[in-house]
Amino acid sequence: MYLVNVDADKCEGCGKCVEVCPALILVLNDGKVEVTGNPDDCMGCRSCEAVCEQAAIVVQEL
Ligand code: SF4
Ligand code: SF4
Repeated sequence: MYLVNVDADKCEGCGKCVEVCPALILVLNDGKVEVTGNPDDCMGCRSCEAVCEQAAIVVQEL
């Protein structure tokens, strides 16, 4: 199981992480990314981390 942590102060709302997430659990809301749907669907691929130029997402294995 994985925990997806978003630092809203760093997120610039570019949407790149939303586009690459294979689990479709990331959405933009008011210019910031949020985890939606079932967080258990996160596969831990870390694509969101890799694509974020602001280092605003950190995926943690629980
Ligand atoms: S890639 Fe980073 S800056 Fe862009 S929306 Fe996702 S978390 Fe925010
Ligand atoms: S680690 Fe992969 S599946 Fe999980 S939120 Fe990031 S892009 Fe989506």
